Amino acid sequence: VPTIYRTLPISLPLGLLLAGQALFAGSHAAIGSPENLKIDPVSPRQGQTMVLHLTLPADATPPVVQFQKKTYKFHAQGTKAGDMMKYRALVAVPVVLPAGNYSLGVGEETRNITVTNAGFPVQKIHLSKDKDNFISSPGEEEAVQKARECDSEKQLWDGTFRVPCKARITTRFGLRRMVNGRLLADYFHTGIDYGGGLGAPVYATQGGRVILAHNGWRLHGNIVALDHGQGVVSFYLHLSKILVKPGELVAPGQMIGKVGSTGRATGPHLHFSLYVNGEATDPSDWFIRHV
Ligand SMILES: [Zn+2]
Repeated sequence: VPTIYRTLPISLPLGLLLAGQALFAGSHAAIGSPENLKIDPVSPRQGQTMVLHLTLPADATPPVVQFQKKTYKFHAQGTKAGDMMKYRALVAVPVVLPAGNYSLGVGEETRNITVTNAGFPVQKIHLSKDKDNFISSPGEEEAVQKARECDSEKQLWDGTFRVPCKARITTRFGLRRMVNGRLLADYFHTGIDYGGGLGAPVYATQGGRVILAHNGWRLHGNIVALDHGQGVVSFYLHLSKILVKPGELVAPGQMIGKVGSTGRATGPHLHFSLYVNGEATDPSDWFIRHV
């Protein structure tokens, strides 16, 4: 797929140039040469996180990224090197987005990306109507949604993310469900389940700040959420015990709780999720990839 680059012609009428500047004032900087923007990977799988690297003159304002009607921010990486500044944006491809070609907007430019089929398995289950109960506690969904959308400036992680539990994986990320013969269009397994024994240690996947440490919710049970900064948040569900407090800074690998079966769980397990700018992403990719 050829990438198209356009630079403003010097002969552009001044009026048009000014109109363009006004339109993008404060939010746009020309990306310039092709090597200034790197999208990794340009052919992501469903549920994978795309990492956008951008290098700009230090005095420029980074553009906004647009993908599937959502906007994403570039965050500065480290300090400026000479006259240039490095930025990074994280875009998680939704699991339910069909495979195919899509455009990604970066400022006024557009790049083509190809989403590939991740081949998530479909689990066929039969349920009686009264059995499948998703009734949450008052304020539960709102608090969890708010934590998912956390976007603080400071990066609190360094390097790859760690596996949060030593127990074996019982359900992988992305599993779809067919209930009574019908595929649930919006449902997918938003994390990884570790079938640990009751009381097995649960570790912080990376450095972060505790933004949620709540006991007794009907669906999530006892839950911890860690804000790793720049739109990356991890969740630990169904704990039997929480060992951290809201606002606390935790170190990578620190024990933050114990495996349990609180909330909507059929047995002791850890449900671990990683959200990137409000979208559930496959954590296993973050275990091996240095973002
Ligand atoms: Zn789960």
